[in-house]
Order: sequence, then C-alpha cells, then structure tokens
Amino acid sequence: MVDLTNLRHAGIGMTSARTRGRLIERLRNEGIKDETVLAAMNEIPRHIFIDEALGTRAYDDVSLPIGHGQTISQPYIVARMTEVLRNGKQLNRVLEIGTGCGYQAAVLSRVAKEVYSLERIQPLYERARKTLRELKINNVNLRYIDGSAGLPDAAPFDGVIMACAAPALSAVLREQLTVGGRMVLPMGTQEQYLYLIERDENGFRESRLEAVKFVPLVMGKA
Ligand code: SAH
Repeated sequence: MVDLTNLRHAGIGMTSARTRGRLIERLRNEGIKDETVLAAMNEIPRHIFIDEALGTRAYDDVSLPIGHGQTISQPYIVARMTEVLRNGKQLNRVLEIGTGCGYQAAVLSRVAKEVYSLERIQPLYERARKTLRELKINNVNLRYIDGSAGLPDAAPFDGVIMACAAPALSAVLREQLTVGGRMVLPMGTQEQYLYLIERDENGFRESRLEAVKFVPLVMGKA
C-alpha cells in the first residue's frame, strides 16, 4: 500500500485513517465479526475510489454515485458480502461481476489470492484500473466485458460476488463455482434480497439473507 499523502485527494487522505477507524467501529456495531474483513476495509482508502467532491462522505456508511448511473456500494454491504463469501477461510480465486469503481475488488484483493472483476461500462473499467494501479494492487484482473455469463476461461472460482441484481440465478454462473465454493448475490426486481449459494458434492444450496438494493444487471457492453 502506498503512502496516502502522495495520492490525489491528499487533503482528505490526512484525516482518512481516523474517519476510516470510525467506520470500522460502526461496521462492528452493525454485526460484522470477521476481523480479516474489518482489517481489509480499514486498509483500503475508500475516498480514492470516488469523486473528490464527495470526499467528505467517503467514510459514511452510504452508497454514493460514481457516474454513468452507477454507485459505489454501501460499506456495510461490501463488508457483509465479503464476510459471507469468506466464511472464515482464506479465498483462492474470486470473481466479481460489476467492478464499478473497483472498491469491492480492492477489498477482495486483501482476502483472496487472485481476483477477477468484470465491468460492462468502459469508462468505469478504465477508472477502476487506474485507481487500483495507483494503490499498487496487482492481484486484481479487470476485464471490460459483459459479465452476465461469468468468466469461463478463468473458472472455477471458490468465491463469486455479484454487485448488480439479476432476476434469477444463472445456471452458467453457478457452474463456475468449485465444489465447496460460495456465491453471494442480490436477486429480485421489485424487492431484492441477498442470497448465498453453496456448492457441495451433492449440488447447490440456496439461502436468503437480508433485503438489499442494488443496480440491475444489464446485458451487453457500453
Ligand atoms: N462493486 C462496486 C459496485 C458497482 S455497482 C463497488 O465496489 O462499489 C454495479 C456495477 O455492475 C456497475 O458498475 C454496472 O455497470 C455493473 N454491471 C451491470 N451489469 C453488468 C454486466 N452484465 N457485466 C458487468 N458489469 C455489469
């Protein structure tokens, strides 16, 4: 990790470690227990991923606009999804669908050996690539593609996270899980819930977690 004061948004970088600490306390109070996830979120500077004008809100527990009608996820949701995905274990290869600004991918880079993240909007992909390079995060592979069918050429994954909501679970996608692998995704149109899909030698088990609000999965590149 590079020295924050050398980065753009350096002004807020000076105080960001302290405000980030407060965010971690809030996440703890909201029920996040995995210390590895909390440490990863304490390490990744969220303000670097958003527009400078929104910098003062970077460590509030809210989603924020990142342009192109998309948002950076609420820190609680990033923490929760990462905690459920990890299930207390070190992850090997993880896939994320919907890079957006790259924040979730950066958090994943601290809990998995190798991360693949897919984005369909070219300017978001390019900005995420630049940000991750600035932070010297080099175990994240970004791809500018329609991620609705996953990434068969890098499969199988022991973790899959979707950052956008589909109406139903894609069979093509769940086949890219290892046996023992876990997928965390929002599903639904009017009402959305977070789901956990677990694969074992007998097949797939689905559990519904809490209500959430994600941008929709959209087909095709833009
Ligand atoms: N992971 C981000 C959240 C991004 S919002 C974070 O850390 O905050 C969800 C993203 O999913 C948007 O950038 C949107 O463009 C992207 N998305 C939607 N449909 C997609 C698809 N079919 N393939 C890849 N990305 C998609």
